Amino acid sequence: MINKKDLAKEVNRRRTFAIISHPDAGKTTITEQLLLFGGAIRQAGTVKAKKSGKFAKSDWMEIEKQRGISVTSSVMQFEYDDKRINILDTPGHEDFSEDTYRTLMAVDAAVMVVDSAKGIEEQTKKLFKVCRMRGIPIFTFMNKLDRDGREPLELIEELEEVLEIDAYPLNWPIGSGKNLKGLYDLYHNRIELFRPEEMNSGERFIHLNDEGEIEGEHELKNESLYDQVLEEALLLKEAGNEFSEEAISRGKLTPVFFGSALTNFGVQTFLETFLQFAPEPSTQETKEDKIIQPTDEEFSGFIFKIQANMDPNHRDRIAFLRICSGKFEKGIDVTLSRSNKKMRLSNSTQFLAESREAVTDAVAGDIIGLYDTGNFQIGDTIYSGKTDVTFKDLPQFTPELFVRVEAKNVMKQKSFHKGINQLVQEGAIQLYKSYHTETYIIGAVGQLQFEVFQHRMNNEYNSEVVMTSIGSRIARWVDPKQLDENMGSSRNMLVRDRFDNPLFLFENQFAMRWFSDKYPEVELTALL
Ligand code: GDP
Repeated sequence: MINKKDLAKEVNRRRTFAIISHPDAGKTTITEQLLLFGGAIRQAGTVKAKKSGKFAKSDWMEIEKQRGISVTSSVMQFEYDDKRINILDTPGHEDFSEDTYRTLMAVDAAVMVVDSAKGIEEQTKKLFKVCRMRGIPIFTFMNKLDRDGREPLELIEELEEVLEIDAYPLNWPIGSGKNLKGLYDLYHNRIELFRPEEMNSGERFIHLNDEGEIEGEHELKNESLYDQVLEEALLLKEAGNEFSEEAISRGKLTPVFFGSALTNFGVQTFLETFLQFAPEPSTQETKEDKIIQPTDEEFSGFIFKIQANMDPNHRDRIAFLRICSGKFEKGIDVTLSRSNKKMRLSNSTQFLAESREAVTDAVAGDIIGLYDTGNFQIGDTIYSGKTDVTFKDLPQFTPELFVRVEAKNVMKQKSFHKGINQLVQEGAIQLYKSYHTETYIIGAVGQLQFEVFQHRMNNEYNSEVVMTSIGSRIARWVDPKQLDENMGSSRNMLVRDRFDNPLFLFENQFAMRWFSDKYPEVELTALL
């Protein structure tokens, strides 16, 4: 076993975060830049190629192949500045699923990439909500500065208003689009030039004096943008939020960086500054409210994602484990807390940017993949010590899309039920039943979950399913005591979840408001 001092040293250099954004804001582009700095990929375009499905290396299930998602891009690890960095991907768009949310349970910080021409968009809002619920630090990168975007002050205002978080710009753009001159870096008290070769000295960085101004002669001083940025910087100092590391660490204040991922401008400065503030692996609470320290010598972790059926011949799956304490060693004996089952972890994998490799050194903060033959469920805790460790349950997320589902072949009810129940338990999908009949309705936060469900039912349980879309619905739970079964209608379908709790599936906001007007005493609650 590793000694405590070495373990602490290793753990404390881990930085594990997710990049969240609305599709097309530039998440992939910035991820690639970060990996390039870390030397984890040799050439830009690798992650992108995977995304577009051109990457042939993937051996994952059909759907994933078609969509070009692969496990190697879901967790990327690299070294920078003596830090071991883990970036967790949060798939969006049509790949959006509960896994996207659950991934945020496994990180210690989030980086929010915003398109500076568009501002805060829908998916960013959803993901942000989960980050806020966890109270993790959130860093903002306002991207695409090389394009004409919105006024930086306006962007900051919108960020604060829409997300209800305080913002603290650590740098400020000098112009944008064709007129982009550089960044006024308030944190380092320097200017970073966009095209240094066009200025007289050719230096990328200009250091500023104590007043935050360029000392002596410089071509930039002749630009009106220079005076403007000084004014804006002064305004930020006087009217802006106060800088507080403590507020950052609680997710109450987001440091904001401007830049352009595509032209690799401001990304390295962002990374280096981010690493100053990004937290070390956090503690984790058990169901008994005990705090597990990442530097505890006993190994523990939880499963936050299961990726199934990479190889149809073997039906193996990979369970993604966030290590919460101690060190993972090959062949380590652990207990699965849910079933008290003892097992030896001999076959596991570590994620690097370009490949999957056998785990060599993984400690608290790291993510490893465990080959699984059906032992694990999402939310499971495993631990190596003698004392039971069971981490708190992962939250459930309110599904937004619903389909009715039945077995194509009525003679095959048994495999149909077995498949559904297992996939529900595993957390792949949420199950509901209509209130009086036994019609199965499944709910998801993204369309991909249905496709994966259908695929796995067919492949793993030999059960072909027929799905009829109910479409997008707003799910709200009600207290059974307040429920009258006649309250249900086609516009607010009454169903029950797998624990028999009643809920309504409202057709839209209007239907929900109508219901609340009619039954003001009935309290409607969402999950997350
Ligand atoms: P993702 O969907 O958030 O992963 O976004 P991508 O990284 O795939 O970027 C979406 C599009 O925006 C691509 O065409 C990128 O080349 C482009 N893009 C990303 N960053 C920038 C940037 O800084 N400036 C400009 N002009 N385009 C960018």
